[in-house]
Amino acid sequence: MPDHRTIIIGTGIAGVSAAAALRSSGYDGVVVLIGDEPELPYRRPPVSKEVIRGDKFADDIRIKKAQWYDDQDIDLRTGVAVTTIDTAIRSIRLDNDEPLLWDQLLIATGGRARSPWRATGVRTLRSLADVPRLRAELAGGGHGNTLMIRATVS
Ligand SMILES: Cc1cc2nc3c(=O)[nH]c(=O)nc-3n(C[C@H](O)[C@H](O)[C@H](O)COP(=O)(O)OP(=O)(O)OC[C@H]3O[C@@H](n4cnc5c(N)ncnc54)[C@H](O)[C@@H]3O)c2cc1C
Repeated sequence: MPDHRTIIIGTGIAGVSAAAALRSSGYDGVVVLIGDEPELPYRRPPVSKEVIRGDKFADDIRIKKAQWYDDQDIDLRTGVAVTTIDTAIRSIRLDNDEPLLWDQLLIATGGRARSPWRATGVRTLRSLADVPRLRAELAGGGHGNTLMIRATVS
């Protein structure tokens, strides 16, 4: 049984790449990859291009296929948020109240869209979850729709 556990918070490209790098460099400890989005991890750039246009769909933009996580023995947990990090006892807590201990912790939680303007009609596009609503609103046409794309890197 491996006696080391690495927890990665964030299932974006940084989190998934870190998990892949651990395995390709021979790390044989437990790897837990945790993301609050319910999706199998996906590449974000196409969301504001091919996906919003309808040229690609969620399954076209996955970072890795579902089987890859099993093959690499990566414990992928989606749709669950990390709510607390306790560095004193090397523990995190999930929003389902589950505690998890770690030997190494990587925080790869990316950025968030900020909307500095409170004007109505301003929408943000950051995730696959934003697409259906935004596409429906844009399809509705009308005046005054403003698409603000925040590709924040932090
Ligand atoms: C619509 C859009 C289009 C883009 N287009 C381009 C482009 O054309 N070219 C380019 O170079 N870059 C582009 N970018 C930027 C690029 O996608 C980002 O640089 C990249 O996504 C950053 O990856 P990341 O893994 O660091 O963070 P993210 O992709 O933000 O992933 C972080 C993940 O962590 C999750 N998370 C946050 N907090 C928690 C928590 N407490 N618990 C669990 N999970 C959590 C988030 O929900 C998210 O899934 C675009 C970004 C967006 C939003």
